Formats: sequence, structure tokens, C-alpha cells
Amino acid sequence: MGTVLKGCYIVTSEKTVRSDLRIDGEKIESIGLSVEKDGDEIIDLKGSYILPGGIDAHTHFDLELPNIKTSDDFKSGTKSAIAGGTTTIIDFVNCHRGEKLSDALETYKEKTKGKCYSDYGFHMTLCEWNKEVESEMEEMVKQGITSFKMYMAYKDTLQVNEEEIEQALKKSKELGALISFHCENGDEIIKNINDLISKGKSAVKYHEASRSSEVEYEAVNTLIKIARKINYPVFIVHLSSKMSLDAVIKARREGVKIFVETCPHYLLLNKDFYELKGDDGLEGSKYVMSPPLRSREDNNALWEGIKLGEIDTIATDHCSFNYKDKRENAKIDFSKIPNGIPSVQHRMELIFSYGVKDKIISLNEMVKLTSTNPAKIFGLYPKKGEIKVGSDADLLIIEDGYKDTISFENSIQEVDYTPYEGFESNGKIKRVFLRGKELVKDGEFIGKEPTGQYISRNKWSYERR
Ligand SMILES: [Zn+2]
Repeated sequence: MGTVLKGCYIVTSEKTVRSDLRIDGEKIESIGLSVEKDGDEIIDLKGSYILPGGIDAHTHFDLELPNIKTSDDFKSGTKSAIAGGTTTIIDFVNCHRGEKLSDALETYKEKTKGKCYSDYGFHMTLCEWNKEVESEMEEMVKQGITSFKMYMAYKDTLQVNEEEIEQALKKSKELGALISFHCENGDEIIKNINDLISKGKSAVKYHEASRSSEVEYEAVNTLIKIARKINYPVFIVHLSSKMSLDAVIKARREGVKIFVETCPHYLLLNKDFYELKGDDGLEGSKYVMSPPLRSREDNNALWEGIKLGEIDTIATDHCSFNYKDKRENAKIDFSKIPNGIPSVQHRMELIFSYGVKDKIISLNEMVKLTSTNPAKIFGLYPKKGEIKVGSDADLLIIEDGYKDTISFENSIQEVDYTPYEGFESNGKIKRVFLRGKELVKDGEFIGKEPTGQYISRNKWSYERR
């Protein structure tokens, strides 16, 4: 017995068609009219849109830092993802210098075991370069971890230098893997922090000054230089500024292959939020993440980049620290505030409400940015990120013509605030299916035990237009 979704508009990255869809087991079995068989369950969707389930390729669940741990673990994080229409997440295995990649991976296998409501995969962090890391990279690719991450910021813990990036990128080319980069010049950041604090500038708003657009731009240019030399694609995570995007566009015209991700907060929030005072003058700490929020001009330039096809994916960088802890640390100075904000639950409805409904992008483009492109770039396609016969029945039914407000009260993320408090939502996440199983019904999460599976990923296969 299968399930037939009737009377819906099937939306892919390429087109929208009015059709029915039959799910058999975990897969999409057929698409067309009159697809039902005897005994099938029929669900009449009355003209709703069906999208491929969202893929959030940038989350940090259960992230342990020296003094603090994220409030969302894999259980609450993936549950929130599903409730928001995201059926697959890719999280970053965190590791320390001197630690074997395989040991770090084991830690993450433990963290995720039996806990994930969505399907999931891992990117592996490379925080140093040596012979052992090099040979372990090969092992990771064999285990379906086909993407890596390097940080150009966070001196003394994660930051790598140009030589290390060059070596890793050479290896990546040999393996057909992909490395994503956090682009901020960590040396500059330290200098700026010391300089600002010594002048008594310790308030929340100086977070942005310590990590200005120039700090990102410089790292982006360093990365472009290396990518050009090695002649192999790189992926830039959470691009935040016009300046950096312009540098990427220019390099692309010259033949350098760069894939770019941005996040809802660089499109919808701006640095004025750091001025928010709240009860104790510290409300701005809610919005501390890296890179920081920029100007409205940057917001607009990123939307423009999206329209022009210069931005490939939108992910959340969900990294939830409670406001109470952010605020507590903000009392010392801005540099002590844990970096990161939550949003895994709200990405799809935000992009629908502020991208599609505001007519900046089409619904097909939304699918491309939030699902199909990440699937291709991170080796999940066509199992994920697509609605076609044989693909996983990971589906999101979104209801248009609806008005609600995003708030902490109606979120299920395990964190004491949402940075999108009061934002209007025009797209109800009505139903969500993960591999054929309905986990959200009439807007309510109805999952019982976690059934998410680890996805061993293929190598990237994606050509920019
Ligand atoms: Zn991140």
C-alpha cells in the first residue's frame, strides 16, 4: 500500500507542475495523474505546493566549546529541522589539534546515535595539516565524508595558515573532495579586539567593528589566490558582505571556481540589532555570531547576488547558545560572547516569506538554494534535493496565504530566544515527509522515536550556470 498526494503543485528547482505523486515505502514511485493503486492512502492537498525537503548543510548541534556547549543537541536540533521543513542536515565534526580525525568522528557518531529525527551527514573539520591528517582525509572520503572545513579565524584553536590551506586543497583535488572555508582573517580579529578593549570599547556593538567586512574580504582574497593557484573549487560558508561577494564574482569571471553559501541572518538582519538594549543594555548579544551582521546595503547586495545566481546555497549556521549565557558573558566584553544563533526551524519559512512572497526569487529558485544545490554540492543528489521517480520521498508541503508570527513561544528549538522574534511568516510548514514517513501533519510535529539515518555522501557534482 502506498500513499498518493493529490491535487498539488510539484515544485522543483526547474519547474512547477500540477500533478499527483505516489509514495511507495521510502521512495517516490510515480508522478502523474491516475497514479493510485488499490488500497492506497489518498491525501488531498487542495492545491498546496510540494517541495523537496530542505537540506541545511551548515549546522552545529551538540557543539562543545571549552566553557560552553550549544543548547540544541542532535535530538532537539533535528526535530526543529523537521518541524521547519528541513529533512537533511549536515553538521560539522569538531576536532582539536593533535586529535585523530577518526576519533573525532567516533565522538560524533556517539552524539548522533539514535537521536536524529532528520537524515544527517558530517563535514570533517581540519584544524592542522600533517601526514596523518592527509592520510585520514582519504579514509574520511571512503566513509562518505566527502567535504571538509577549514577556519581562517579562531587563532590558537582552529585557525589554519595559507600553507596548510594550499596542502589541504591539493589533497582535496586528488580525492575529488570539497573544502569549505570560514573566511575571516583571524590575526586581524585579535588585533582589533585588543585595540578596541584597550580603548574601553567593550560594548556588544563593537563585535561588528572587530570583525568588519574588510576582515572577511581579506580572507576571501587569500582563499581566491590559493584556489587559483591549485586550480580547484572551494566553498565559502556564510558569506556576509557585498565587498566579499564582489571579490568572488570578479574571481569567477577570471575562471576561479567558488561556491558560495549565505545565511538568512545576512539577508534579513543587520548591525542595528547590536544596539538593542533590553532590560540590561545587553540584548544585542542575542545577535552575536561570526561573521557579524552587516548593513542594509549588504543585505540588499546579497539578495541581488541570489537573484543573479551568484550565491549557490542558503544554510543556517545554526549554533544555539542561550541568551542568558550570551548576556552573562557580554557583561565582561563583546569578545567573550559565545558566537552563534539558532534558526534551523525557521529557514524555509523565512526564505518563503521574505524571498518568494516578496517576489525577490521564485519558488523554484528557493528550492534550488535550500535543497537542490546543497544536494549536488555535497553529494546527496538525486537521492535528496529532488522530486523525481526513485528519489527519497523527503517532501515539504507548504501552505501559502497564511499569516503568523515567528516567536520563541511557538518554536521547538531548545534555546531561550529566537533572533526572528516578531517576524511575519506567510508559509505554513503544513506537512513534512522523511523517506515516506509523515513527521509533520497539519503543522504539528508528530514524530515519535527518531528515525533519521546517516547518509554516506558521494563526491560533489555541480556546475555553476
Ligand atoms: Zn558554522
